[in-house]
Amino acid sequence: MRTARLTDSSSTSTSRCRWAGPPPAAGTRPRGSGRRAPGPGRPGRGAELQDRAGPVEAPSALDRDVRDVDLSEVSVHVGPRCHFVRYGLRGGEMLNQVAVFESPKALAGEEDWGTPDELDHAFAATCPDVQAGIPLMWRDRWWRMFDRDPIMTWVDGNIALLGDAAHPPLQYMAQGAVMAIEDGWVLAKHVAARRADDGSIDWRGALAAYEAVRPEHCRRVLTTARAWGELWHLDGVARLRRNTLLRARDTHDYSFTDWIYGPTALTPEEEPPMFTPIPLDSVDVSGLTDSARSAASGNATPTTA
Ligand SMILES: Cc1cc2nc3c(=O)[nH]c(=O)nc-3n(C[C@H](O)[C@H](O)[C@H](O)COP(=O)(O)OP(=O)(O)OC[C@H]3O[C@@H](n4cnc5c(N)ncnc54)[C@H](O)[C@@H]3O)c2cc1C
Repeated sequence: MRTARLTDSSSTSTSRCRWAGPPPAAGTRPRGSGRRAPGPGRPGRGAELQDRAGPVEAPSALDRDVRDVDLSEVSVHVGPRCHFVRYGLRGGEMLNQVAVFESPKALAGEEDWGTPDELDHAFAATCPDVQAGIPLMWRDRWWRMFDRDPIMTWVDGNIALLGDAAHPPLQYMAQGAVMAIEDGWVLAKHVAARRADDGSIDWRGALAAYEAVRPEHCRRVLTTARAWGELWHLDGVARLRRNTLLRARDTHDYSFTDWIYGPTALTPEEEPPMFTPIPLDSVDVSGLTDSARSAASGNATPTTA
């Protein structure tokens, strides 16, 4: 089983993420895709971030530090206004790295945003692990980040939405393709269950059963992904609280993610209960010593995501 590590990687601590993009279109917010002029976004709900992803041949093209990466696990380094993800592809043949950061040029409305100098600057103060990976990134491809507000009506007559058309998410839970596949599987199951001996199908019943279960699941994924993004990029005292909270947790406690990796629900009753979030305000950091505060605002010990 793959494990995920969440590591606070940045040693900078200045302003919080904010949206300063072009006028928003209703229901949309920044996520990602392509090198292009700024698209629609919703203000006040997140940062202007970009992906840069690139498979790197393993192990010959990697320097010593990166060669030590465990390709069986997902590692996430988080910090204010940026994060860095690494995981193995093709059963450990390749290492994929994703660097996500706030682009000052995009925030300023400039057309040429997400440039290599912005990438280097965004990660300049990060820990050695991240510093080793950044020079290996491809620098010719990046994405803006967008999602849409959840919608609960996916069916109109005999037309049904599925996949990104119904629920484009922010990428933090890596569930976009997963949800699309699950949509197709659930719909197929309900269609198969309503096929009569003569081959006719009760489409109305199948689509109603599909719509009864999938929108709520995907709503949870979309809203949780947004919350994870906000959690990853916290700054100041909130960041200290997050780090304190995560360090105190059992590395093998998956109770906050079990709901997503369990069997796919075919009915609303099968949808697992959601976890109860732990309010960050409940974490007391007043007892942190100066050195602990310094450590918390610098490089942190890996903890389970
Ligand atoms: C950089 C990146 C990393 C990602 N990583 C992950 C991950 O780790 N895990 C995960 O689960 N998800 C991930 N996703 C999200 C995932 O790729 C999408 O959620 C998923 O592909 C959605 O599937 P879909 O079939 O709904 O849409 P798409 O894959 O977008 O397929 C839609 C298809 O329709 C075609 N099309 C569009 N308009 C027309 C038209 N008018 N006529 C005919 N064809 C048309 C398009 O060309 C496309 O082929 C990632 C996405 C990106 C960009």
